[in-house]
Amino acid sequence: MRILIVEDDDRVASALDAFLQRSGYATQRAADGAEALALLDAQTEAVLLDLGLPDVGGIDLCRRIRARSEVPIVVVTARSQVIERIRGLRAGADDFVIKPYDVHELLARIEAVTRRARPAQVEAEPVVVTATGDVRIDLVARRLLVGDEIIDLTPKEFDIVAVLARHPGVAVPKDRLIREVWNTDWRGFTHSLEVHVGAIRRKAGERRFIKTVRGVGYRLVSG
Ligand code: CA
Repeated sequence: MRILIVEDDDRVASALDAFLQRSGYATQRAADGAEALALLDAQTEAVLLDLGLPDVGGIDLCRRIRARSEVPIVVVTARSQVIERIRGLRAGADDFVIKPYDVHELLARIEAVTRRARPAQVEAEPVVVTATGDVRIDLVARRLLVGDEIIDLTPKEFDIVAVLARHPGVAVPKDRLIREVWNTDWRGFTHSLEVHVGAIRRKAGERRFIKTVRGVGYRLVSG
């Protein structure tokens, strides 16, 4: 697996690079946005993206990477404000790590998002789940369809839909969704979850296929 480290602080990048290599990963380093976009290719399996870069806004770069690739992106930021995280998630980031971070935690998060990006398709599970309002969820192709139209979801948004689709008609608690989608028990992701569900609903138009279950979480309204 090749990890692209996008970080302008040479000291931070070197330490991280050394740690990842010791952990058995191939790495590449970019000190700015232009370099990052030049190095990004089909062999890049994860991107570690520092939000504070000299030539381009980190959020903007995140969006540009996402426009070109479905590669998992872990954003590294000194900015702990919730608003930055939400902007990052909307721009297509898969996870966040706040500076200063523990390198082992960072590695665990990279591995988690990479695992999710390559789901083992060995479990016997339904391929297509039908929800109300002509909505279908293709769990293998990772597509949300309304009629014949493919709704453009971010990887995280689809992860949420997929968890609900695996339990049609069942109220899935928010903390379980956070655990399955963000791989954390931290309740701080509740707001992000709500923002993502809002985005999914907006994209699906008037179809009310995700119902809020007050005090619990969300439920997929099935066929
Ligand atoms: Ca920086």
